[in-house]
Amino acid sequence: MNHLISIDDLDRAGIERILDRAESFAEVSGRDIKKVPALRGRTIVNLFYEASTRTSSSFELAAKRLSADVVSIRSAGSSVDKGESLRDTVQTLSAYDPAAIVIRSPYAGAAQLVARWTDAAVINAGDGKHEHPTQALLDVFTLRQRLGSLEDLNIWIVGDVLHSRVARSDILAFQRMGASVTVCGPPTLLPRGIEALGCAASPTLDGISEADVIYVLRMQHERMQESFVPSLREYAERYQIGLGRLQPNQLLMHPGPVNRGVELSADAIDSPQALIGQQVKAGVAVRMAVLYELLAGRPAAHMAVAA
Ligand code: ASP
Repeated sequence: MNHLISIDDLDRAGIERILDRAESFAEVSGRDIKKVPALRGRTIVNLFYEASTRTSSSFELAAKRLSADVVSIRSAGSSVDKGESLRDTVQTLSAYDPAAIVIRSPYAGAAQLVARWTDAAVINAGDGKHEHPTQALLDVFTLRQRLGSLEDLNIWIVGDVLHSRVARSDILAFQRMGASVTVCGPPTLLPRGIEALGCAASPTLDGISEADVIYVLRMQHERMQESFVPSLREYAERYQIGLGRLQPNQLLMHPGPVNRGVELSADAIDSPQALIGQQVKAGVAVRMAVLYELLAGRPAAHMAVAA
């Protein structure tokens, strides 16, 4: 694997290899000195063209804990247009001979484009509505840590599926690991034809009591040009997951950031069934494992030329 653009870049064995390695990196993160020399002397560029807290901070920490040199660049999405300026930026940054470029962009397909313009390994940290593969890997990691395996799990993904790159990557990853997936939300927020990904689709919460895991998505107001639900109050009445709708044996996940009181009630967020904190914690170890997977076996560019 040269890049991580989509969960489709990984088969089940590849996912398991990354998660096994993430477990040993999680152990490093528990030490006083949280650093290993694996990527010493390599340069990693984080290019974030869209708001991010968890993903950008965990990629930065992951690179530092592997002893790489890190350059983090942020730019307001609106100031960057899709085509040439991104290409110019990537070409400029290529002067530093980066081993990896981590990119978040509001445009679906941006990571794929960057991979064409650079020799570096490219990691998609979220491209528009398309995919967010490292989020899905950390979600699988969190469930595997808690339950041992995803085999035969019944997972419901609830909310704004239409605008969610997390949903697309999670549907692929959860199924690849043996779970069955149902997506649920108002019909206006369920993409037409989503069943082609192998999941079921439900416009109501009927049947959710059978789920082992409820994965709630954020209402993505910033991606909505029109009104997809009559009102947030009505949305919350029909789809909000609160303790009243959560069975005692069900686990609750959310990629963050949460709109408290919209897709999730405060009591559910703070309940012991919620794995939201564990998901964030898993982010660093899993992103260390992804960087390691892509870079450790790959010679630095100048070494490749010498060889
Ligand atoms: N943080 C996730 C993402 O970047 C989920 C979200 O923003 O709702 O896609």
